[in-house]
Amino acid sequence: MWHDSILDTIGNTPLVRLNALASDLPCTVLAKVEFFNPGASVKDRIGLAMVDDAERKGLLKPGGTIIEGTSGNTGFGLALVAIARGYSCIFTTTDKQSQAKIDSLRALGAEVIVCPTAVAPEDPRSYYSVAKRLSEEIPNSFYPNQYDHPANAQAHYDSTGPELWEQTEGRITHFIAGAGTGGTISGTTRYLKEQNPAVKSIGVDPYGSVYYKYFHSGGEFDEAEIFPYLTEGVGEDILAGNMDFSLLDDYVRVTDKEAMQMTRRLAKEEGLFVGQSCGMAMAGALDWMRDHAGELTPEDVVVVLLPDNGFRYLAKTFNDDWMRQHGFLEAPRALTAGDVLV
Ligand code: PMP
Repeated sequence: MWHDSILDTIGNTPLVRLNALASDLPCTVLAKVEFFNPGASVKDRIGLAMVDDAERKGLLKPGGTIIEGTSGNTGFGLALVAIARGYSCIFTTTDKQSQAKIDSLRALGAEVIVCPTAVAPEDPRSYYSVAKRLSEEIPNSFYPNQYDHPANAQAHYDSTGPELWEQTEGRITHFIAGAGTGGTISGTTRYLKEQNPAVKSIGVDPYGSVYYKYFHSGGEFDEAEIFPYLTEGVGEDILAGNMDFSLLDDYVRVTDKEAMQMTRRLAKEEGLFVGQSCGMAMAGALDWMRDHAGELTPEDVVVVLLPDNGFRYLAKTFNDDWMRQHGFLEAPRALTAGDVLV
């Protein structure tokens, strides 16, 4: 028994019940653990789907170059497909992404260009603009643009959604996830609501991102409320074409500190060694469930999607110095006159 290539191992990730963190809640809470994908994240699903689509449409030809702006995980997924199919990759990313992500992309043979985070999306230095410009300059190149490419949400409609429906035998009642491009939450929710319109879908956003604001205010908000934050891969400063708010029932938001601390608790209390956006999604999910505990019953099955793996954040969330430096971990208390040491 073997697979023809690593690409055949994408998808069919496990659902794992939370046993400690949600023990006060009346419902079943399950985690969809996406680090079981070969590139260790949910984004392998769209890397494959966008390249398949480009090959079908003749947009990507033998020997071609894939150019994409990525926080790291989509790049990893695209790089796996590029290796299996003989393409080169150039990725643009931002200086806030962990070094481990950049090094992993280079390990797969990709060229990585690091761009500043703190510039407007339309600034020629932004990672969106650099990817777009390179795709115009480099012949035989393909720029998937995961933000707007319909194959992104479609990949989740075709795989993540059906997996959740089958794995819960149609019992899933709530789906909770963070959003970057919005592909995961929009595609998965669209499939689930087609099976059962009563399924509720809740988005989780970091403070500083536009999505929570758009959902609750329809676009009327103060620009000062959009600011850089540390949680990687989720939230946006633009409205991605793959984000479909009409499918969502609620949106909650989480601070960087809550996200980082919950990421550590998932590892310590559930054995789920996952990334920052997983801690963010779970912190938001637990808040939402506690706020709605009166409506939840033992029949409810809530699925929280955990996008990636903890190894990518060893130098950040899982490093005490980094956590203290950002005020996410209280420094050990200084000794005072009243302390008794034995
Ligand atoms: N978490 C991480 C770590 C990611 O890299 C991404 C993708 N940027 C997401 C969550 C969000 O997924 P999506 O783009 O499908 O909304």
